Amino acid sequence: MNPAPQFNNRFARLDSRFYTATAASPIGKSHWVIRNQALANDLGMDLMSNHGEPFLSAFSGGTPLPNSEPLAMVYAGHQFGHYVNQLGDGRGLLLAELDTAQGKFDLHLKGAGPTPYSRMGDGRAVLRSSIREYLCGEAMTALGIASSRSLCITTGEQTVWREKEESAAMLVRVAQSHVRFGSFEYFHYTEQPELVKQLADYCIDLHFPDAAEYSGSQRYVVFFSQVVEKTALMIAQWQCVGFAHGVMNTDNMSILGETFDYGPFGFLDDYNEGFVCNHSDHSGRYAFNAQPGVALWNLNALAQALSSLIDETQIKAALEGYRSSLVGHYARLMRNKLGLQTSHENDQQLVAELLQLMQSSSADFTNTFRQLGTVSLKDNQHSLRDNFVNREDFDSWLNKYQQRLKENTWVDDERQQAMAATNPKFVLRNYLAQQAIEKADVGDYKELEQLAKVLTQPFDEQLALEDYAKPPPDWGKRISVSCSS
Ligand code: AMP
Ligand code: MG
Repeated sequence: MNPAPQFNNRFARLDSRFYTATAASPIGKSHWVIRNQALANDLGMDLMSNHGEPFLSAFSGGTPLPNSEPLAMVYAGHQFGHYVNQLGDGRGLLLAELDTAQGKFDLHLKGAGPTPYSRMGDGRAVLRSSIREYLCGEAMTALGIASSRSLCITTGEQTVWREKEESAAMLVRVAQSHVRFGSFEYFHYTEQPELVKQLADYCIDLHFPDAAEYSGSQRYVVFFSQVVEKTALMIAQWQCVGFAHGVMNTDNMSILGETFDYGPFGFLDDYNEGFVCNHSDHSGRYAFNAQPGVALWNLNALAQALSSLIDETQIKAALEGYRSSLVGHYARLMRNKLGLQTSHENDQQLVAELLQLMQSSSADFTNTFRQLGTVSLKDNQHSLRDNFVNREDFDSWLNKYQQRLKENTWVDDERQQAMAATNPKFVLRNYLAQQAIEKADVGDYKELEQLAKVLTQPFDEQLALEDYAKPPPDWGKRISVSCSS
């Protein structure tokens, strides 16, 4: 039996200046670390049974799957504000594109070995960072945030050197597209406008049906406006779930607004609006509260790269849509978090006051919102007050909130249910990932499996697994996450 699905590799059919065909290289005798059965089923891949052997080989750098055409995509990008004129897949390969009932997906093998774009790197990924990326892609998806997903991780005998010797691993990442803002920048700054156009057409034909209805420059105006809109939604969702990406360089921004390229990301534990999750980000460029502004900066960089297709006035008009779109999504999502059925002009004030109280008390972001969902209209006080330094201030906020809730038509129960479906109980806290990594480093993958399972149902009570909802213990607050991966 041939377990490999039929691929339809459209990117490989594009002009060869978009990529370099490159074979993966193996990491020694390999085994599975984790396989995502649900996703494999959706993709029509039998990873689990004995028929999975060819996949294990292909996904650890051995014999490629029939019809896969591994290639390294070229791109550039603004890294920490500085333009780097050539990046590209230095350790990842687009293996194939697959059409499914849910749409088109790329299979990308991260850690596949050196490519022409590896620069000084070894082309590898370590087990630690592969696990973090695997978990976060699945966690974000379960939270309802568009994200790359994770099909599996393999590891082999080979080790690589980071700050210490670590196991090499490969992650199969599944995403609708691997085209980045930086892909357009590369062709713009190398003065190949015809390739900027071809790349935009490739994206439009596959992912932007509204733009595909138009011809001429309007096609690209609609395309760019929708990238702006998708990015605004993604950022609003990050801000409402307490997610900090950590490396919002333009080469890590998906053209589809899918959260992408997980490195030193972090979910907020204690609420701190200036949270910097990436230890290497000394200036705090990608701090939690900087993300909305950085995304706009990145969209400006993309706009520049599209300037051969769209005139300046139209680009400016599209960019102007970002702010209102972001504010609109943020307001709507925050209303949902607070269980408010309608919108009211003072709602943003109510949210801002709560966040201020949380900030000054270092209240846990996820758990505070989750517990707000247990407030009832008849409570005079709520146990949440004990999490705040100034309990009276919280009481008076709660009182204001309860007054506002009276404008709902919902009874307590209905609101509480709605809030539990929008405020997660479980997010990928750093310390949880760390626990799974430490076990996996000694060959025990049970904790990883368990954590992955918990995170796929973030809104369920999962009472037997309460521990995974706990804020970090002291050691868990001090984990340093950097670009090293
Ligand atoms: P990242 O910070 O992971 O988004 O990567 C930025 C750029 O560095 C991309 O072009 C990557 O492909 C490349 N890169 C990162 N790590 C390695 C590595 N170990 N070997 C080769 N290239 C790498
Ligand atoms: Mg990257």
